[in-house]
Amino acid sequence: MKAIIFFIVISSVFTNWGQQVCPVIPTPQVYKVIDGELFVAEGISIDRSTLPDASFDFLKMELVNLFSINLDTNENYPKIIFNELRNVPTDYYSINVNKNIRIGYSSQASQFYAINSLLQLVQGGEDNWYIKRLSISDSPKFQWRGLHLDVSRHFFSVDEIKKFIDDMALYKFNTFHWHLTDDQGWRIEIKKYPKLTEIGAYRDSTIIGHYSRSPREYKVEKYGGFYSQEEVKEIVAYAKSKYIKVVPEIEMPGHSRAALSAYPELSCNGLQQEVPGVWGIFDDIYCSKDETIQFMKDVLDEVLELFPSDYIHIGGDEAPKIRWKSCSDCQNLIKQKGLKDEHELQSYFIRRMDEYLSQKGRKLIGWDEILEGGLSPNATVMSWRGDKGGKEAASQGHYVVMSPNTHCYFDYYQSSHSDEPLAIGGFLPLEKVYEFSPIPEGMNDDDANYILGGQANIWTEYMESMDHVEYMIYPRALALIQSLWCFEKPSYEVFLEVYLSKHQDYLKKHNVKFANSIHFPHLKIERTKDGLNISFHGAYDNSKFQISQSNSNEKFVFEKQVVGSGDLIFLARGGFEERKVLNLRVKSLESGVEVNYTFLLSNLLGLNIDLVTPPHVKYNNNGSLNLVDGILGSKPWKGSDWLGFNVPNIEFVIDLEKKRKINGLRLGYLEDNGSWIYLPENVQVEKSKDGIKWKKASVYKIEELNSEFDLRRVPYKTRSRFIRVTTISMDIIPEGLDGGGHIPWTFINEVELY
Ligand SMILES: [Zn+2]
Repeated sequence: MKAIIFFIVISSVFTNWGQQVCPVIPTPQVYKVIDGELFVAEGISIDRSTLPDASFDFLKMELVNLFSINLDTNENYPKIIFNELRNVPTDYYSINVNKNIRIGYSSQASQFYAINSLLQLVQGGEDNWYIKRLSISDSPKFQWRGLHLDVSRHFFSVDEIKKFIDDMALYKFNTFHWHLTDDQGWRIEIKKYPKLTEIGAYRDSTIIGHYSRSPREYKVEKYGGFYSQEEVKEIVAYAKSKYIKVVPEIEMPGHSRAALSAYPELSCNGLQQEVPGVWGIFDDIYCSKDETIQFMKDVLDEVLELFPSDYIHIGGDEAPKIRWKSCSDCQNLIKQKGLKDEHELQSYFIRRMDEYLSQKGRKLIGWDEILEGGLSPNATVMSWRGDKGGKEAASQGHYVVMSPNTHCYFDYYQSSHSDEPLAIGGFLPLEKVYEFSPIPEGMNDDDANYILGGQANIWTEYMESMDHVEYMIYPRALALIQSLWCFEKPSYEVFLEVYLSKHQDYLKKHNVKFANSIHFPHLKIERTKDGLNISFHGAYDNSKFQISQSNSNEKFVFEKQVVGSGDLIFLARGGFEERKVLNLRVKSLESGVEVNYTFLLSNLLGLNIDLVTPPHVKYNNNGSLNLVDGILGSKPWKGSDWLGFNVPNIEFVIDLEKKRKINGLRLGYLEDNGSWIYLPENVQVEKSKDGIKWKKASVYKIEELNSEFDLRRVPYKTRSRFIRVTTISMDIIPEGLDGGGHIPWTFINEVELY
């Protein structure tokens, strides 16, 4: 069975593709195939006089590991001939494959890029490796093509960091943003301040599960580690050999609890506190006094010795001002310098760092919060809260790196399936990453000149291992690099074909533990008269799934064992007396990925519901159908399976099609206060004969959770055809709670009657 399906898939790839689709990612600017192939299975010879040793070693090792092809000086083999080019764009390269392989390059980096493209052009198998006769010319659109890695929340060894760099280099990323310090651990040796790593590099416990879970549980175990200066040098040199520059990040003034646990005198109140084992934003930050500024300068002195990068990242994000407000040192400074408020004080703090780095011939970069209170003259902005900060900075004539959380936060979920490993939240599937453009829509050319490029950020609160980090990065990094490298990228469909037919295997051969999320069956749901039609779809046009009932005790009208994509399964609406649950196990035959689905066959399944209040655009999955699709939202939530509202009242109307006797409703709400999602306070229910005139408003308090499937009961005994439900939430979250002062989010997903 599997073999047959495999054949179908492969054949479809070639019929859809034609000759001109290039297997290389990122897609080169110009790719032209000439008739014929150059066979290279026996070996390739090389003129290595201009090739750096590290690049030669890499090419030789890759050819052997991937294809068992020898690289030597045998004159009978096809030859790689290098030719340095002038007057071409930055990092330009060309490849011409005919009787030999001619590579033109303008820099050692682009020579390395050419080698990576060449490796992706080798096709065939066994003893039949060949490269199509072709010509490529190529250069990158953006100079900043980055991946960020947080090593504070979880720590990774020197070898793991090197592997991270290896994988980046395969796809022409050139900037490694190394997030070295944060609340939960200080990770770089600073000789002048040994306690930073003696004390600040270790925490006594680490939170288990999602940080919004209540009550919180901890794994009580010493956790941590740091990189010695020798190790840092080793990593920087290693990255350099792969043409990747390492940009260190030393966070200030916020996210500094690890440093303050070592040197509490640098805080406003001098309080001795431990390195925290929980994630979040902490009130205790560096004090703005001169002693701290001097400390930061001393730290930067050692950092500058280790990192030749022109850019130095100073963080600058998420720094609450509560301690500064009650600190005499900070307040005196505000008066002395004639500053307006604590935001201007942060701006002053950053400006002093900017001046210091500028003196040393370096450039300061920070998160977009450094715009608040005024941007320092030479600062470059990393735009993370959407692209707003980036737009503002560019319009002020500052350079910008785009890493908006809408497209570049690889700690977000990549599918909504229950099988995804725990993540912080959010929803960023491969397709959405592919939509990313570092230059926001509508930006004028003058401002666009200030966009250096973009990067993805990998915050590791929920990633304990490098395998998990790789899972979150790949394949999304391949979608990202298309936006950073290509002047004109092909459609998502073409990209997906190239990925599926070539790069899954390529990643596997490089031992990258990429996510299989695109192979999770994608569910399509349609209303019918008596329930729902559901069908499963996959990454391939003709994806096949094997579907079985995982709970054989359930009696249910479903007999097919194997259905192809597009085949419909009918789910009948349940009765009022008893409700049924259907458990399906769905296996993708191409990838082997298996997923469980639970459908609650309620008495409202597929019924028309008029959702009077529209959900927020970010959390509107299937509109009103979401309320009656039989699928209960996951907990912790995964971004796409709930309807989310950011208004106090949510109204919807149920049309039962005829007058019915009911005892009440069951409603599914999400509570995740850490994400500012609160339970509503009350539910108001009304009835109507015609859906126009309403009577008998009854208001119920939201009850404690006690019913099965996490639904909350609202007792409402009546006979009616139309039922109007209004969910009433708090106007504003009280101060002191998560999100205090903001409008709470209300997430809802299923409704049934009883
Ligand atoms: Zn202070």
